Amino acid sequence: MANKDQTHRLGQVLVVCAPSGTGKSTLISMLREDFPTFGFSVSYTTRKPRGEEQDGREYNFVSRETFIAMRSRGEFCEWAEVHGNFYGTATAPVEKMLGEGKDVLFDIDVQGAKQLKKVFYKGNFIFLLPPSREELVRRLTGRGTDSEEAIAKRLANADGEMAQADFFDYWIINDDLDTAYEEFKAVFLAGRCKPELRPDVEEQLKNWGEDG
Ligand code: ADP
Ligand code: 5GP
Repeated sequence: MANKDQTHRLGQVLVVCAPSGTGKSTLISMLREDFPTFGFSVSYTTRKPRGEEQDGREYNFVSRETFIAMRSRGEFCEWAEVHGNFYGTATAPVEKMLGEGKDVLFDIDVQGAKQLKKVFYKGNFIFLLPPSREELVRRLTGRGTDSEEAIAKRLANADGEMAQADFFDYWIINDDLDTAYEEFKAVFLAGRCKPELRPDVEEQLKNWGEDG
């Protein structure tokens, strides 16, 4: 079946959650490097930039007042308070990217993923797990970007998130990074083959065999 026109493909919703320090940013950067056309949902947050982070790239950094105003205008499809800061996903840019056939990756927390499931119920929801709690502590400390207090908060939050692992469609254990990346890529590529993303092919199938 000839399918020269790829422009009618819809974008895939790929949601990735992980307890902080598991390696989510590392794995997402690898996927974005391999697939540069990936759309990324740049969240709004009230937390301060960390390390090399740039406004508009990793996050849109906004004040609490701005965040609350956006939230009351109904601009977020999900939002949550994580580690004492607000985080939220603006609906409009996501809808635009999906409509243009761009796959969109969401790096959000478990509370946000549960809200997003109500909007994008056909999305792929992935949970990344650390190999052990000890290793999670090592990674959080080794990253060197958070204070002791922030690390303690993240660990307490991690315990709560691990207890909700059942919500997800896929579990990927980030022990060996290359293995975890292969699995992550496999879920993404399989997700791209879902029939609901191909209304154009569905049309072709309706007429299958009619033109000889
Ligand atoms: P997250 O985005 O989940 O908070 P990061 O991607 O910042 O986590 O990773 C936390 C730390 O763990 C970083 O220093 C990173 O280099 C390291 N790391 C990530 N994946 C692995 C892995 N598979 N093995 C060992 N260290 C890892
Ligand atoms: P960090 O401060 O380490 O960048 O992120 C802390 C947590 O907030 C991570 O689990 C991250 O996935 C989550 N997060 C980032 N953006 C959003 C968002 O828009 N919504 C929700 N619910 N969580 C988010």
